[in-house]
Amino acid sequence: MKVFVATAQTQGERGSDYHWCIEGELVRIVEVCPRDRGDPDGGCGCGRGFGGLNSHRSTTTARVAEVGLTLADYALAIQSSEQQEGWNPCDECAMSEAVDLAAMAVAWPVDSVLERRLDELVVRSLGVDA
Ligand SMILES: [Zn+2]
Repeated sequence: MKVFVATAQTQGERGSDYHWCIEGELVRIVEVCPRDRGDPDGGCGCGRGFGGLNSHRSTTTARVAEVGLTLADYALAIQSSEQQEGWNPCDECAMSEAVDLAAMAVAWPVDSVLERRLDELVVRSLGVDA
């Protein structure tokens, strides 16, 4: 299945770019805080950020990757990441987030590099499906 992973590719195309994630780690689309809700280039940075499941850090660029995960694996990765951050997410929440992410990722060819503008994903570099 297709998922979103952190990438440094295309970093610097925007002056507001940042990349603190581990290359290739799974990322999620975190909720935007009130401060940045109206501005993807806001001071917090969450409106343009993808959150790394392993590093618990973030990046403004994500790549679509084909990986040998099931939806259940994807959900488990999300859930254990949240647990490491001190949350206690329910199975259903993690699964619903995994389903949402997979549904978004499947829309893009493998190796596409995307940026986030609040609730919208915008392509920076279009990949090609094998
Ligand atoms: Zn924020």
